[in-house]
Order: sequence, then C-alpha cells, then structure tokens
Amino acid sequence: MTSTYFSTGSLAVRGGEERPLALGSAQVPIFQSAAFAYPDIESWLEAALGNAAGDIYSRNSNPTVRVFEEKVRLLEQAEAATSFASGMAAISNTLFTLLRPGDRVVSVTDTYGGTSKLFLEFLPQMGIKADLVDTGDHAGLDAAIARGCKVVYLETPTNPTLKIIDLRRAIATAKHAGSTTIVDNTFATPINQLPISLGADLVVHSATKFLGGHDDAMGGVLAGRADLVSQVHHYREINGACLSAFSAYLLLRGLKTIELRVARQNANAMSMARFLNGHQAVESVFYPGLESHRDHSIAASQMSGFGGVLSFAVKGDFDACKRFLNALQLAQRAASLGSVNTLAGPPRTTSHVECSIEERAKLGIPESLVRYSCGIEGFDDLRADVEQALKHV
Ligand SMILES: *Cc1c(COP(=O)(O)O)cnc(C)c1O
Repeated sequence: MTSTYFSTGSLAVRGGEERPLALGSAQVPIFQSAAFAYPDIESWLEAALGNAAGDIYSRNSNPTVRVFEEKVRLLEQAEAATSFASGMAAISNTLFTLLRPGDRVVSVTDTYGGTSKLFLEFLPQMGIKADLVDTGDHAGLDAAIARGCKVVYLETPTNPTLKIIDLRRAIATAKHAGSTTIVDNTFATPINQLPISLGADLVVHSATKFLGGHDDAMGGVLAGRADLVSQVHHYREINGACLSAFSAYLLLRGLKTIELRVARQNANAMSMARFLNGHQAVESVFYPGLESHRDHSIAASQMSGFGGVLSFAVKGDFDACKRFLNALQLAQRAASLGSVNTLAGPPRTTSHVECSIEERAKLGIPESLVRYSCGIEGFDDLRADVEQALKHV
C-alpha cells in the first residue's frame, strides 16, 4: 500500500498502484475482461463472500478501475472512493442513495446544469424537496441549512460565473444541523482545494474534466467517508453505471500529470484574467484569483490555486460573443473543460442551454458570456489568439 509521506506529485504517479503489477508490467494494464475466472468453485465462493481478495464481474469491481479509485482517494485524502461512467452518474447515484421520499436537500442555484436538473425535475418526482439558495448568499445558505436537511450539496467555484461558496462556514452549519455534505470539486481539482480536509463528508468529480485532463474519456468518482461510499457503491453495483476499464486506464494516465497540468492551467487562467480585465472590448471578467472578485478572500482562504477556468462577457450582445468565438484559432469551440487543450464556449449553448434568457439573467449569466477553460499551451499564444479574436467583437 501507498505510504502517506508521499507528496502530491508522487501520489499522482504511484499512488494506488500495488507492486508488483501483473506479469511485471511497469504501468497498470487494462483488465479488459467482463468476468474473472476461478480454478474451482470453493475459491470463487470465498471471493464472492468477501473472505478472499478477487474480482468476480466488472460491473462490481475491476483491477484497472480500482487503481483509479485508489489514486483519487489518496489525492482527495479520503477514506474510500468509488467510480462511475460519468460525473452525472456519480452525482445522481450519490443523491439517489442518500435521499428518501420526504427528505430535503439544500443546494445553490448555480450548480452544474445536469445537477440542477436533478434538483428541479428528477428528485421532486420521488418526493424529495430541493431548496436552492442564491449562490454567494452565505447567510441565506446558513439559514436554509439550519432549518434542517438530509443533504447539503455544494459546488465551488461554480459554473459559469466562478462564484465561491465559503466551504468552512457551510460545512460547519451542516454539521450542526446533522446533515451530510457533498462537494463537487470538479472545477477546483484536489490540487487546488481539499474539501474533506475542510470537513466535507463526500467529494464528487466529473473525472471527464481535470482529473483525466485530455478530453478523451468520460468518468465520475465519489470519495469520502467509507460508510457512505460503501452505500453508494452498493447502489451503483445494481444501478450499473460503472466505469469501463479502458476509460479508467485513460483517466489513470491523465492523473499522473495532474499536478503539472493544473499548475500551468492556474497560471494561464490568472494571466488571461489579468489580460482581459480592463480590455476595451471586455465588459466584465469572472475569476476568483482577481482581487476584484467579490469572494476573492474566501477563495484565497480555501484554495491553494484558483483553477483553470474563467469566464468573461464581451461588450455587445450574443452576436458579438459569437463573432469572438468563431474567430478563435487556437482555443477549440467545445463544451467540456479541464483539458490540456484550451476550450471555449458560450454557456448559452453549453451548460445553460435549457434556460430561457430570463432564467440566465436571473442567474447573473450575461448573454455575451464566454467560458474559457485554459489548457497547457504557452500563454503568449493564448493571449495572441484572444487578442485577435477580440478585434471581431
Ligand atoms: C461536467 C460536469 C459535471 C458532469 O460530469 P459528466 O462527466 O459530464 O457527466 C458535473 N459537475 C461539474 C462541475 C461539471 O463540470
């Protein structure tokens, strides 16, 4: 097993990899097998009963997938972790495991679009009430939690305007109310923010984003308290939203470089936010690393880096935003984030496509907003690309 004295970089490279690996391989192999065969029924039964180590069927467990879960567990400083086919599978399996008809969940208005759909459409169908507080209304969030709820679901920084929730404060209120806290740590990554060290019970990720980091594999992961993770894992075994061995392999390969990638993405985003702030064609910039950000001091107190995603409104309407995006030559026009490639897009056609103009206005999302997820390209090239595209605004 991995020792705790390993630094983050070492954990990312070696964590969770029990040596020797199969047949002496230097890297974790893809165990591309649905079932696992046993020499006799007795040893199969021992594994099935949990009396001996061994995989039975890949919907339940798989050796490649297990290494991915263990690496994320170590990076998030969690007791246990389990994985899923996507980030939304991680989030929905977790909420459907922990909540029962009649329960109440408290969250914020700015959660990821799919998560918000769970709160507004699917959980209410099962008699579960979701109370969504304006993101950034710290006192309102305290009050909603204090009224009593089973689960407090937090996400910070938020999508797409990078609002910040005070994790220490919200978690303390939740503990007092006897609620379970879940934090979506996708935007921050365990390199920039460790919600479990701040008291959260559970952390969820879209591993599709920064964990994998190459925009080539879908996945999700849940890490945190062992008793809760094991309940959710049991639900997932039956629900079937398991991570494939091949995706786990790609995510593992990506995870090895997460510390280096995120350091570069943090730096690129900070430089880009500074460059855009005050540019004549830019109306406003949203990045928690800017001192002018409303909750910069909270961000600085709970994050060791401010992340690779920023957003900004160009001057003008949606057409101006479209002209800017269409003129980009280095950044790709794509819906995802957290990749080594810089990705840009309008929330209007990605994360908040289902909202009306009025709903987006209510969430404080300008129609000319661009979400910009920095990759690891050289900053001078990114700046030149954005500079020439802004001329088309
Ligand atoms: C993308 C994303 C999700 C959903 O993850 P998928 O892997 O696309 O299912 C959840 N939360 C956040 C913050 C995301 O960015």
